[in-house]
Order: sequence, then structure tokens, then C-alpha cells
Amino acid sequence: MSTLEIRDLKVSVKLPEGELKPILAGVDLTVRSGETHAIMGPNGSGKSTLAYSIAGHPKYEITGGSVTLDGSDVLAMSVDERARAGLFLAMQYPVEVPGVSVANFLRTAKTAIDGEAPKLRTWGGELRGAMEKLQMDPAFAQRNVNEGFSGGEKKRHEIVQLELLKPKIAILDETDSGLDVDALRVVSEGVNRVRDTGDTGLLLITHYTRILRYIKPDFVHVFVAGRIVEQGGPELADKLEAEGYERYAAGAGSAR
Ligand code: ADP
Ligand code: MG
Ligand code: MG
Repeated sequence: MSTLEIRDLKVSVKLPEGELKPILAGVDLTVRSGETHAIMGPNGSGKSTLAYSIAGHPKYEITGGSVTLDGSDVLAMSVDERARAGLFLAMQYPVEVPGVSVANFLRTAKTAIDGEAPKLRTWGGELRGAMEKLQMDPAFAQRNVNEGFSGGEKKRHEIVQLELLKPKIAILDETDSGLDVDALRVVSEGVNRVRDTGDTGLLLITHYTRILRYIKPDFVHVFVAGRIVEQGGPELADKLEAEGYERYAAGAGSAR
């Protein structure tokens, strides 16, 4: 049982001129293994900023609050240490890793996180099995990470990572964006398999309610102008689908 605790988190983005632009205005959120949380909000509300801040992206400066995983200070950890501690982030825009094959990348990541190399005897089968479940051609293992991948292939590759790395807490930023209906179903089934293990806490970040028809969240948090403005159960997602985010804009003092 693991717990990610975000307390009064305030974050600014570092602008090129060195100025700080405040984005997160005090976020409180607790995610436990076995729970599925959805963060929903309009574009530009700071959802990706929250994900990047937890992952340790250097472009973001933490100006207040705390993030802990089972009591350990996540914000004091390097990016590698965060991954080893059991945090996983699937980016809204996955990066290319030229010259590194999918097979090597996954094996290296698995080794770093487990502290020892996976057993050769079983690893090949595990990798093939994970790719098969995501309906990825086995030839994909020899391609360079994300190089020339379609949007859907990038997302499938992320879920392969998620299934193989078995993180304590996984943050999936707009995993549904750019997926056609078939890919969305395959990707959602993968997320649900991870969810059903009960060992991973999931934080699904999304603009649209579409993915939540496939992955049922236990909790829904509405995110507007850098803070959570409403929380509820799955029924809140249905309400957002019907009403949109308009009614939050005035109260949050922002028309973004
Ligand atoms: P979301 O994921 O909810 O769409 P983001 O976290 O990507 O929101 O962005 C939140 C706000 O921060 C937006 O207003 C965006 O323009 C701003 N922002 C993010 N990165 C930068 C940057 N590098 N320079 C300037 N503004 C940025
Ligand atoms: Mg956005
Ligand atoms: Mg975003």
C-alpha cells in the first residue's frame, strides 16, 4: 500500500527571460495504490504542469507546498530517484530517444527501477506478452523509442512500460488524446489491467470525458486555473460531459 500526498503545491513555470509565471495555486491531492483518480479541466489550467512538477521537470519551479511518496520527500529526489521510488509519468508529448531501441529502453528502465537486471530467461517472454496485449507488432521492439511512432503507437508503448514497470503511482497525461476508438479501447484495457492488480494508484489527466467511459475513476477532481475547484465520484465526469467547464470560469476569476 503506497500513498502519494500532494499538499498545497504551488508551482511557477520558468520563462526564458528568467521570470517566474505562477501556474499552480495550491493543489491538495492524495492518491493511494489501488485508487483511480481523474483530473479534468480546460486547456491551460495547469494539468500538465502538475504532472511535470511531480516528475521533476527542470522547467518548473516549486514555490510552495510538498509532495511525498510514503512519507519520502519526492521534491528532493532526482528524476531517476523518483522513478526508482515507484513514480511513473506518461507524458502528453512523449519524447524521441534516437539510437535506443524499445527493447533496450524497457530493459534498462526495468533494471534501474528494480535495482537488478530482469532474468533473461523470462524477460523476452514478458516483453513480447506485454506488447501482444497492446496489439503491437513484435518488430516494434527493435525500433528506436518514439522515432516515427504515430500518436497511437506512442501511447501503446507507454502502456507497455506501465505494465512492465509496475509503478506504485502512475500519472497518465492525456493518454486519450489523438487515439482512434480502437486504440483507445486497447490502451484503456491495458490501464484497467494495471488498475485491477490493485498495486498501482492511477492519476488520469484528461480534458475530455471520453476515456472515462472505458476507465471508471473512483474520484474525479475538476481543475481550473491551477487549483482543484470541485471533487466527486464518477458522476461528476458525466456532469462535466453535459455542462462543460464554463460554469467554473467566473468563480475561478479566469476565462481561460
Ligand atoms: P494544461 O495541461 O491544463 O493544458 P499546462 O500545464 O500545459 O495546462 O499549462 C498551464 C499554463 O502554463 C498555460 O497558461 C500555459 O500557457 C502556461 N505555460 C506552460 N509552460 C509554459 C512555458 N514554457 N512558458 C510560458 N507559459 C507556459
Ligand atoms: Mg493542454
Ligand atoms: Mg496538458
